[in-house]
Amino acid sequence: LTDVPTLARIDAAREPHGKAEFSAQPILAGKVVGATPKKVVNPATGASVGRVTDATKEDVDTALKSAKPWAAGAAERATVLNRAADLYEENFGPIFALLAREAGKTQMDAVAELREAVDFLRYYAARGLELKQPPLGIFTCISPWNFPLAIFTGQIAAALAAGNAVLAKPAEQTPLIAAHAVALLHKAGVPASALQLLPGDGATVGARLTSDPRVNGICFTGSTETAMLIRKAMARHLAPGAPLIAETGGLNAMIVDSTALPEQAVRDIVASSFQSAGQRCSALRCLYVQEDIAAHFTDMLFGAMEELTVGDPWHLATDVGPVIDEEAEQGIRAHIEKARREGRLLRQLSTPRGGHFVAPTVIRVKGIAEMKREIFGPVLHVATFDAEDLPKVIDDINATGYGLTFGLHTRIDNRVQEVTEALHVGNIYVNRNQIGAVVGSQPFGGEGLSGTGPKAGGPEYLARFTKPEPAPAAGAAAG
Ligand code: NAD
Repeated sequence: LTDVPTLARIDAAREPHGKAEFSAQPILAGKVVGATPKKVVNPATGASVGRVTDATKEDVDTALKSAKPWAAGAAERATVLNRAADLYEENFGPIFALLAREAGKTQMDAVAELREAVDFLRYYAARGLELKQPPLGIFTCISPWNFPLAIFTGQIAAALAAGNAVLAKPAEQTPLIAAHAVALLHKAGVPASALQLLPGDGATVGARLTSDPRVNGICFTGSTETAMLIRKAMARHLAPGAPLIAETGGLNAMIVDSTALPEQAVRDIVASSFQSAGQRCSALRCLYVQEDIAAHFTDMLFGAMEELTVGDPWHLATDVGPVIDEEAEQGIRAHIEKARREGRLLRQLSTPRGGHFVAPTVIRVKGIAEMKREIFGPVLHVATFDAEDLPKVIDDINATGYGLTFGLHTRIDNRVQEVTEALHVGNIYVNRNQIGAVVGSQPFGGEGLSGTGPKAGGPEYLARFTKPEPAPAAGAAAG
């Protein structure tokens, strides 16, 4: 934030919103519709945060009929998106309250998330001025709950900066922050027909918005499984060539060799695995520690974990909040229980009572090949390796088929080059934590099962939201 809020200011600004009830309803051509709201609850306490009305089949149809690409020129669009960025910053009180109460985000996470959302608005506003091609038409934007402001805003900002009409479907767990963001975008001057909000679940509202031939392109962030369903639906219903811009899941590894600085590596592992309760696509899932330092190193790691405070993210001292809901909690617990039965549970912090908490946990594995899927929570898997096994470790990481983030802690220069060249991964982090990216200077996105590239927050991303450049006429190159 240009004017970085202090914790005391954050606390004062969000306090009036600590008990406020928020609401989210479909916003169709500027009209708020619907009358049978469902409760949205705080994952840390079970208390009500507000109410939501899901979009009906008729609402989706109305939205498609009312959608109109944004007629203003690129300069005016940029002005409006920059104004929206200002409004986001001014509204940090309710935004931080919603991020904590609806999405279980700690204040540290909330500050970073608002920063990222604002950066996306300003970055795409600027890049939109360079686009040569016209918009595609109507874009469906479908976002996950784990960055309910930053990713929701980034998708919309990209599609709007290119001049498209957007139908935005937030995750079913986080409609309230989405409704708040859409209200700010409209207030900044985005036309009602260029941005409509359709809350609802994936199987109904999401499926309708991805299988209507009036949609010209889809921007999706979420799990790899959902991206595959959407690709199938598009192939059946959308015009050939309609783009799917997808950012999906990961099975992210880190290698710590015996030359690494242990204190730094431990601090980075704790952040990479447990910040945001491990609910980041970039989070570290499988750590490889070199055998000769492993015993001492894991002891240091367990010691550092003891320092974490797990609890209600409303408290400024909390490091690790809840997981998003009952289904997530039960799924992660089942995975941990299986490891406990098999004698592979190495460490688990104690779990607070109340909400959907899963305490930071460490599980032993032989290697990443054992892990069949992404466990989206605060669970770190640890394996050991000998120096001569390194090529096999790299092969195993590549063989997962995912390719989102990778971390390396070493002080051997040619190892950095050797490992980074051999891995098929979108974002590689050396001697630092492996979560986070800075819009504009560190474009973020995966390869293989983790995404369809080019990366969000990078120079080539926006062109995907416009009509493709016409192919050069035959013989043009020779002439
Ligand atoms: P999800 O796939 O369950 O849901 C994402 C969105 O898709 C939601 O809005 C959901 O309602 C919608 N959806 C579900 N089924 C649908 C269908 N059949 N048709 C259309 N839409 C449908 O994912 P999630 O649990 O919300 O988010 C967590 C996942 O997102 C993790 O796998 C994580 O790795 C991934 N993620 C990736 C990135 C990245 O940049 N690569 C960033 C954040 C999250």
